[in-house]
Amino acid sequence: MTSPKATILYVEDDPDSQTLIHRILTHNGYRVLIAPTGLDGLDMARQHHPDLILTDINLPDMSGREITDRLRADGELCNVPIIAVTAQIHDFERRKTLVAGVNGYITKPINLQMLVHTVEECLAGQLPAPPIEDLDEARRAYHQELITRLEETVRKLETRNRELQRLDRLKDDFIQLTAHELRTPLTTVYGYSRLVQTLPAIQQLMATNTEANATLTGLLTAIERLHAVVDEIVIVSRIASGRVDLRLAYTNLAESIRQVIVDYTPVLTQRALQLQLTPEDWKISLVADKQMLEMAFSNLLSNAIKYTPDGGTISLYVERVEDADEPFVRIVFQDSGIGIAPEDQPYIFDRFYVTGDTQLHSTSKAAFRGGGLGLGLAICKGIVEAHQGHIWVESAGRSETELPGSTFYIELPLTLQLPN
Ligand code: ADP
Repeated sequence: MTSPKATILYVEDDPDSQTLIHRILTHNGYRVLIAPTGLDGLDMARQHHPDLILTDINLPDMSGREITDRLRADGELCNVPIIAVTAQIHDFERRKTLVAGVNGYITKPINLQMLVHTVEECLAGQLPAPPIEDLDEARRAYHQELITRLEETVRKLETRNRELQRLDRLKDDFIQLTAHELRTPLTTVYGYSRLVQTLPAIQQLMATNTEANATLTGLLTAIERLHAVVDEIVIVSRIASGRVDLRLAYTNLAESIRQVIVDYTPVLTQRALQLQLTPEDWKISLVADKQMLEMAFSNLLSNAIKYTPDGGTISLYVERVEDADEPFVRIVFQDSGIGIAPEDQPYIFDRFYVTGDTQLHSTSKAAFRGGGLGLGLAICKGIVEAHQGHIWVESAGRSETELPGSTFYIELPLTLQLPN
């Protein structure tokens, strides 16, 4: 088989024209590539560096003139000869095409002999330069065409965007409604489950019968977990829809952090994790929603525990920063865990974003079971931002062997006022 004389890219959406030109040019010894849209044409030109490009003028996504314009601005493709294939034979249309920088044009319906001749001439560099004529008016018309198309595209994108936002709101409303509907019966179940644990007869049964003990413990743990998950979803959907009502009051950070630590003391002990903090430093009072703040602290501490292997260290710091324009308090949760990859860091505060396989996160796998909806940090962010604060993370990367650790920062203004 002889090697092709040259590679020709043909940008055309009409299948009949594609077939015809492909057949004729292949028959004449050329390699022919077909791109059905303007964007495909640009991609294929960049990928295959053809010797010649034939382009239809009226393509569904962009015009042949715009394709030419893009190629002429491309350092590697600016000199590729381009021939416009057009049914528009009006002189003005022809001049608009020349303005964009084509070397020549072929009119439709295509005269096959003429086609082969023009292609040969063009490849031999013999296609006469476009006649120098007054192209000003054509240039203006061409620019107008570009602006109109841009405007149309922006309008389409805006409509699409509004539709996506509407769907997003619908989804949020659906989640919120479902979570609310689930929460009502679940609260009752949760209440009964707590009650059951205090009944002497049940306590006695659990103490004497291992099977009953295992079954009831499993049941009660699952109910608690379900309750917590539904609560998380309710809160996160409220945050997402901007419906967080803060109950602001003077809040003592020392008290809040102590409360949170108490909840985690059993797991910290069980996993031999060291918790370091200087209680004196936490004696700071600020206007905040105590319950919300504790929820944010609780999520950060729970994550630090989840992603730090047994025997690791978690350090909590706090400091008042008075010398800024507006004084604030900086709270830091630092762990010696597996860390977070740089590519994940921008997304971990998004709803439902989780990274990797949580089963691998620790030597104490049991600590991970049931976790990982990907809502904890979204809740933290919503709470911190509702307080007009900031939250961010710093981590050198993720490694289960080197344990680079993660540091979460929260900054809260000290200037929030109590409502009147
Ligand atoms: P989850 O409920 O899955 O923990 P979060 O929103 O709290 O959801 O966290 C999102 C993701 O961020 C987690 O899946 C985890 O990969 C990562 N992450 C959060 N905190 C830490 C941490 N202290 N160390 C390592 N990775 C973390």
